[in-house]
Amino acid sequence: MCKKGKLVVLSGPSGVGKGTICQILLDKHPELRYSVSATTRAPRDGEEDGVNYYFMSRECFLGMVKDDGFLEWAELFGNCYGTPAFAVDSFIEDGKSVILEIDTQGALQVMQKRPECVSLFILPPSIEVLEQRIRGRATEKEEDIVLRLQRASAELELAAHYRYQVVNDDLQRSVTEIENIFRQEDILPAIV
Ligand code: ADP
Ligand code: 5GP
Repeated sequence: MCKKGKLVVLSGPSGVGKGTICQILLDKHPELRYSVSATTRAPRDGEEDGVNYYFMSRECFLGMVKDDGFLEWAELFGNCYGTPAFAVDSFIEDGKSVILEIDTQGALQVMQKRPECVSLFILPPSIEVLEQRIRGRATEKEEDIVLRLQRASAELELAAHYRYQVVNDDLQRSVTEIENIFRQEDILPAIV
């Protein structure tokens, strides 16, 4: 029987660097899979449907909720975000580990439903640095930046619920720390 893949939950406040870290891990380790979430938010410049997110109407999203199509879902900043269950389960059955890059509400749902998941919380070196990163990304309007920063303080209090906590100070150092965790958890092969 084929060995099953692992379910990895990567979470942390908006702007902490989750997307950047995930992209580096996926580029370096093609055996890893990424769970493409569904969202009702509008695409940002350069974002592609089916690659960054499945962009959909609220009506369509709520239809999927009703049909039990999400492993987890949450409402954030006025939009819905959710993890389609089907793709995640087929990757795991196929022996591929899959990364869910999701918010804390969704992460807590997954940890409850799938206690075997490997959960990581990414922390900023400080709130000031988090603010610089969100502003530096220049993808949100001022009112959305304020919302994201307000939410960040509450989210940081949930870090202890995760199996691992990683401070994203230097990007390369954080990636190496996560790779070491992945080796320890048998998500990546050990270095021989
Ligand atoms: P998230 O996916 O958590 O919302 P992003 O990956 O979009 O965050 O990162 C937010 C911004 O911070 C981006 O402009 C990214 O280039 C930058 N960034 C990410 N990690 C670091 C780091 N370790 N040091 C400096 N800047 C970073
Ligand atoms: P953004 O709008 O910046 O792409 O994402 C906003 C927040 O939504 C981020 O914290 C991101 O991790 C979270 N998010 C993205 N996809 C999902 C998902 O499928 N479920 C949940 N619960 N959160 C998600």
